[in-house]
Amino acid sequence: MTDDVKPMECPYCKARNIYRNGHNKHKSGAKIQRWFCNECDRTFQMFYVKCDRL
Ligand SMILES: [Zn+2]
Repeated sequence: MTDDVKPMECPYCKARNIYRNGHNKHKSGAKIQRWFCNECDRTFQMFYVKCDRL
């Protein structure tokens, strides 16, 4: 039901000061959203999941 993935927290510093940094395509065809944390200057990837429960 969620076609728009909300940005989550940075897995490193738990900051929400993150923004999208493009995306990759997985071999399986799934999209991988790339994020960039403006707090710790780290990049991390996050799969598009069907349900974003955390
Ligand atoms: Zn961070």
